[in-house]
Amino acid sequence: MQTFDVAIVGAGAAGLFCAGIAGQLGQKVLLIDHAEKVAEKIRISGGGRCNFTNRDATPANFLSENPHFCRSALARYSSQDFIALVQKHGIAFHEKHKGQLFCDDSAEQIIRMLLADCDAGGVTRWQPCAVQTVNAVSGGFELATSRGPVKATRVVVASGGLSIPKIGASDWGLRLAKQFGHAIVEPRAALVPLTFDAEAWAPFSALSGLSLPVQVSTGKGKAAGRFLEDLLFTHRGLSGPAILQISSFWTEGQSLQIDLAPDTELDERLREAKAQSRRQLGNELSELLPTRLAQAWLERLKIDGTRPMPECRDKDLQLLAEQLQRWSLAPNGSEGWRKAEVMRGGVDTRELSSQTMESKRVPGLHFIGEVVDVTGWLGGYNFQWAWASAAACARSLQGIATGSVANP
Ligand SMILES: Cc1cc2nc3c(=O)[nH]c(=O)nc-3n(C[C@H](O)[C@H](O)[C@H](O)COP(=O)(O)OP(=O)(O)OC[C@H]3O[C@@H](n4cnc5c(N)ncnc54)[C@H](O)[C@@H]3O)c2cc1C
Repeated sequence: MQTFDVAIVGAGAAGLFCAGIAGQLGQKVLLIDHAEKVAEKIRISGGGRCNFTNRDATPANFLSENPHFCRSALARYSSQDFIALVQKHGIAFHEKHKGQLFCDDSAEQIIRMLLADCDAGGVTRWQPCAVQTVNAVSGGFELATSRGPVKATRVVVASGGLSIPKIGASDWGLRLAKQFGHAIVEPRAALVPLTFDAEAWAPFSALSGLSLPVQVSTGKGKAAGRFLEDLLFTHRGLSGPAILQISSFWTEGQSLQIDLAPDTELDERLREAKAQSRRQLGNELSELLPTRLAQAWLERLKIDGTRPMPECRDKDLQLLAEQLQRWSLAPNGSEGWRKAEVMRGGVDTRELSSQTMESKRVPGLHFIGEVVDVTGWLGGYNFQWAWASAAACARSLQGIATGSVANP
């Protein structure tokens, strides 16, 4: 039976990064993935250009039942550290929006960088390879795999979240955590388009394709979220960065509050226009909002847009302003795992060490990346968590002697 210091299951962002560091620190590492190709999510991320980190990442950009858990790892491996690595590998990048960093060329460059670091660390890679069972034995773990049995002093679970099953996502890591007695924070699709009752949505479906900056919010107290981002109307519902962001905070039954003109005091502007302008209401509103949106809201509220401003009723103008700036609507669901960028929830962090990502229940078992209940906002934060949690884990593995697995 082959023996390793560390067996890492999942060769995505976190697994590859952890393997490369651990290997270069002298560990004998086995990296296993059940998919034929490694790191498929990196490949498709950021529209093929991988938004690999966010320059301004702080713990405030992450959701978790245990919000302080991510602090230590993020502080010890920051976005600046990953930027330095990318620069060392000569990968050109640019900032797109709010600190989001993308490769100039292709996400493949990040994958090649991670694989080069695995090679430099002498990492053994098995893929495709299925892991059937993991059992704790004296001095470590025994893994039954489709390439035969393996012993490892430590096992690192880096099998990711549940989104996009067709490119390899599985619940393997969550099942393994349960097998070893770990609590799971209920997994939910996040960074995902939201859907609406077809009948209720019908009046808005004509706006499909329209995009505009909005402020969107939901929830109360500590569970509240608020974002100023672009909103996209689609045939079935709402999408775009604003909705992806707020979807991570939304729970069934809650409404979203949307301000469709976040930089404008609509009430005030319409009252001023009534006093000063002789134009029609529809034309005046089109100065403040996209015309299609203005028309749709006039129709919805049954307000005559051809009426000259001075003849408009105050209560109509007030209603318009209120409905446009405090639009409240309740999604009936989301597009689910097929479209979600990430999983919210996962292995409960209260039973993990924030320093090493090691289980407090089962010494030698670690969980890193998206399988853990730490979920970043849209904008490079999820990869930063993958890198930071992987680095924390890999650095903690130092000092394990090769072959220290006991032969039962
Ligand atoms: C379309 C899309 C775009 C995204 N864009 C961005 C972006 O631009 N920026 C950003 O920060 N985040 C982005 N994300 C999120 C980001 O990709 C993930 O958060 C990140 O990849 C998580 O890293 P991970 O290593 O934990 O999991 P993954 O990268 O998903 O890796 C998990 C690996 O485990 C393997 N695996 C699963 N089950 C098993 C099993 N049973 N046995 C063996 N192997 C298994 C999988 O094949 C996979 O290779 C995007 C996600 C999607 C879906």
